Amino acid sequence: MDDLMLDGNAVAGLLQDVFAVETTTAIATCRGCGAPTPMGATHVFRGAGFVLRCPHCEAALVTLVQGNGQVWIGFPGIRTLQLAVTGP
Ligand SMILES: [Zn+2]
Repeated sequence: MDDLMLDGNAVAGLLQDVFAVETTTAIATCRGCGAPTPMGATHVFRGAGFVLRCPHCEAALVTLVQGNGQVWIGFPGIRTLQLAVTGP
């Protein structure tokens, strides 16, 4: 395991600020290998921002960069993202 690697729970607050829903239990289906993974179980690497990688094939699922009161989010490796919502 890389010293700079965390798990997806490390960016839960940031994701929740953006999506306003519980994101650690959201299921991301990887575009690369097709595996469904809870966001909290992704492998997170820190650098200039964060890269959330698939724990099965290491594809980059999500990229996050913060600065100047803005957040840039990319979803290069997510085929679908399943979120729990209230209501019908
Ligand atoms: Zn994968």
